[in-house]
Amino acid sequence: MSRNSEIADLFRKIADALEIKGENPFRVNAYRQAARVLGELSEDVEELVLSGRLKEVKGIGEGLAEKIQEYLKTGRMSKYEEAMSGLSPELLVLLQIPGLGPKTVALLHEKLQVNSLEDLRRELDGDRLIQLPGLGPKKVEQIKKGLSLFQHGQERIPLGQALPLVRHIIQELAGYASRISPAGSLRRWKETVGDIDILASSSSPDALIKKFVTLPEVQEVLAQGETRASVRMATDGFQVDLRVVPEVSYGAALQYFTGSKAHNVKLRTMAAASGFKINEYGVFKGERRLAGKTEQEVYQVLHLPLIPPELREDRGEIEAALSGKLPHLVELSDIQGDFHVHSSYSDGTDSIRTLALAARERGYRWLAIADHSVSVKYARGLSQDSLKQKLDEMDRIQEEFPDLRLLKAAEVDILSDGKLDYPDSLLARLDVVIAAIHQGFTRNVTERLLKAIEHPLVDIIAHPTGRLLTGRSGYQVDLEKVMEHAAEKSVALEINAYYDRLDLDDTNARRACSLGVPLAIGTDSHSASTLHFMELGVAVARRAWLTRKDLLNTRPWSKKQPVQKSTRTG
Ligand SMILES: [Zn+2]
Ligand SMILES: [Zn+2]
Repeated sequence: MSRNSEIADLFRKIADALEIKGENPFRVNAYRQAARVLGELSEDVEELVLSGRLKEVKGIGEGLAEKIQEYLKTGRMSKYEEAMSGLSPELLVLLQIPGLGPKTVALLHEKLQVNSLEDLRRELDGDRLIQLPGLGPKKVEQIKKGLSLFQHGQERIPLGQALPLVRHIIQELAGYASRISPAGSLRRWKETVGDIDILASSSSPDALIKKFVTLPEVQEVLAQGETRASVRMATDGFQVDLRVVPEVSYGAALQYFTGSKAHNVKLRTMAAASGFKINEYGVFKGERRLAGKTEQEVYQVLHLPLIPPELREDRGEIEAALSGKLPHLVELSDIQGDFHVHSSYSDGTDSIRTLALAARERGYRWLAIADHSVSVKYARGLSQDSLKQKLDEMDRIQEEFPDLRLLKAAEVDILSDGKLDYPDSLLARLDVVIAAIHQGFTRNVTERLLKAIEHPLVDIIAHPTGRLLTGRSGYQVDLEKVMEHAAEKSVALEINAYYDRLDLDDTNARRACSLGVPLAIGTDSHSASTLHFMELGVAVARRAWLTRKDLLNTRPWSKKQPVQKSTRTG
């Protein structure tokens, strides 16, 4: 896997460098798409080259394939060197700062010889920055805020990136442990995780620890003892800690190391008030151990039902549990379909048929194929004619799938004046209209979103805040206003489940739900291989306390009851 992410990283850097140099957006996007495809690939790219199957990978054309081969053969990529000429690698890091786009970075580089984070800090303290054309005090303040956000976010990894690795490790270790589970924020399905904690119980801890530190993916052993070890993984430098505990206290340890800290503090205080002591070894009254083997019994001793890990944030879950009001959270198996999937008509890599097959494989009853609209040129947005062609093709493919309803959808851009990117006559032919902002992030976003919500044909607003977990912090938007309006008009807000977005996030989704806004999960998949991001969307929903009835994805699709009608009348 590490070769895949190495090359993906190079392609991403080429795209960044070309963008700073003001190159053609189509070329920039070809590299970005290739980086994404490689990042999502489950097979080793070296294997694909060796067996001559690299060309079969969609999104990797001949030119890109040659560059991959060159790199695997020589350890160098001449296109990368060419793109980077005159730029320092550290300059590209600046693009990850929320609020700093390629144009500003180019300006800083050209006018003030900014080449690194350190240079940027120097200029933020000085007075030259403010005088650059188009900058001014407001923008400088924004950059300062972005920089602090960026430094903060650096230490954490998106959940969707950590999960496959943890699952792989646990699978490798399962034969050496009687019980094993992730703990910490990963078990709570938090959107980003710091270090990864794994907890296990085993009759031979030595063998388990030895297996762990010698996994082929381990790059460095940071610490190793009889019941604990810490390693750094080759993939993306994750740190993983393994703890082995006795069977008799496994449940207490799992509860303790799952956290959150705030949840545990409250639990401990509550226990103390009734004369109990609770720690990682068990629940005790005096010297007597009352519970510890399972998490269930730990909570039970405290007269609580087992609280789902996703809720353990001290956001009222203990109070709700005490009064018997814990919500019955939505589950992945409740999901009947995905609202937001791109096909190869726009910037996706798979055909409609391939996507439909994958959706059927997942047991879905419906799938919304939503491609970009005309003005999103960099993502090959569909002209009106191409959209019509696509709808015709969908009619033909639909006949092959009697058990899966293909929903005609579009991710329509909200233009700078708040109007939509297709005429109403065309929108009226769609089953699902998803409106989204992809351009002009700083231009009166709130007003544009409100206007889109008012449009009678809009069903869902996609990624309502525009934030990226590993990048920008999102639009300047009055989300409260947007939510109130969405509730009033019964337009759904999306929980975008793409691993780098998770937008709305848990807190905002909970707020939206409490205001009566319908919520819809879409994976924003650009290939069939990422439909599984649905689990991340469901995790956000669960962390937002959502039940089955709060999500449109749990409903069957019927022609008489499209999204709008089902939410607007009921
Ligand atoms: Zn989008
Ligand atoms: Zn999309």
